[in-house]
Amino acid sequence: MAAAACREDVQERRLYYVMAETGPQVVKDVLESKGWLPYVEGKSLYWNLWWKGSRYRKSDYEACQPWQRLNHFPKTLNLTRKDTLYRLLKTMRGIYGPIYDFVPLTFSLPNDYVRFVRVYAEEDEQGVKGLWICKPADLSRGRGIFLFRDLHELTYDCNVIVQRYISNPMLISGYKFDIRCYVVVRSYNPLVVYLNQEGIARFATSVYTTTELSNVYAHLTNTSINKFSPSLSHEKDEVGSGCRWTLGKLRTWFEGMGVDFEKIWRKIQGIILLTLLPVAVEVPLVPAGCFELYGFDIMLDENLRPHLLEVNFGPALSLDTDVDVEIKKPLIEDIINLVEISDEQARMAVNHALGISGRPATRGSRSQLVALDKKRFTSLPELTRTNSLMKQKARSNRAQRNVGRLRRIMPFNDTTAELVCHPLAVGKPALKQIIQEIRRTLL
Ligand code: ADP
Repeated sequence: MAAAACREDVQERRLYYVMAETGPQVVKDVLESKGWLPYVEGKSLYWNLWWKGSRYRKSDYEACQPWQRLNHFPKTLNLTRKDTLYRLLKTMRGIYGPIYDFVPLTFSLPNDYVRFVRVYAEEDEQGVKGLWICKPADLSRGRGIFLFRDLHELTYDCNVIVQRYISNPMLISGYKFDIRCYVVVRSYNPLVVYLNQEGIARFATSVYTTTELSNVYAHLTNTSINKFSPSLSHEKDEVGSGCRWTLGKLRTWFEGMGVDFEKIWRKIQGIILLTLLPVAVEVPLVPAGCFELYGFDIMLDENLRPHLLEVNFGPALSLDTDVDVEIKKPLIEDIINLVEISDEQARMAVNHALGISGRPATRGSRSQLVALDKKRFTSLPELTRTNSLMKQKARSNRAQRNVGRLRRIMPFNDTTAELVCHPLAVGKPALKQIIQEIRRTLL
């Protein structure tokens, strides 16, 4: 029966995905609309995409086959925790200079408490009462965040970051907003990055003021906070009802104001790439099937200068509003197209499940398959040895330029296409040259 299933799998080019019950519905819907089937333990003979909300184990990467895709990379925690992200960018600032000044001054507490107090006291002596924002290092959706001016208001019972508050944000009709940018890393070695040309502008729902620091509806732009605002459904001047615009709508608004949004967008691309570079240095070589979607949160100040607020691991994919549907469904479609399984790979999956003798090698349990895969998988150290510059070059050259709304932003020209194929290391010439190219072309 299993052999028959395999024949049908080949004939109908069946692809299977693994996802928890609680996995994002939009991903399931997109996959199923493209003919993918859910992997059923004990029934399906192989799987092609494992979409996971949490991180994988090292052994999962080791077992990943050419016909399989995993939606995360290892060793990227530093990117998506607020405190470690800042540490990473601070190191880069120390080496590469002010090009890395796109995050507000940040202190990681309790470690940096003394440093923070020193800066606070210096400003206090000069009569400056700056505004600060305190954020738990490892929470999201605006949870646990508060603003303060006086040191005695600072209390915390977990690791937090204290960050200089951007007190002069760009406003639309008096409302603060930030931009959620969707970034897909297709590979870290060589670095291949796509930026979705659509995104979401997320608005605060109370008019911005620096006098009411405890009004979260004026200061935080998280939808998870503003959906409880009494004025959410009010028609708010230009912003309208609700608290979300598509990036397209924001672009049109800027154009109407005579602002060159493309110039801002190029700078945002620069920030995204500069942020990913130190991560690319840390990510080990992994199978080509890995990819990852990140949510970069960017805020513009009144001078239209973009600042990076944070990078989200597994950005929300729920379809709560029309804006979500308009942005997230095509985004997932494009990602699935980007990480496409070729006909050849689909056949390989079936052959693998059948085993050398032509009979099914396993009864189809994923754990059994993984165990089997492990035996055949070229181990990571071996992969490291055999992975030549030539192979990397081929991968970077093969990377498609655009897939739907996903635009490739790295490599972005011939020079960077060449440079990303070199092993990247902090302080080494290739990384320095990439940063110079970003400065020359995007900033
Ligand atoms: P979370 O992961 O909880 O969403 P963020 O760092 O994204 O944490 O902050 C939540 C919101 O707080 C942002 O969307 C933004 O509106 C506001 N915010 C965060 N940091 C700053 C800052 N330094 N200056 C001004 N506003 C900020």
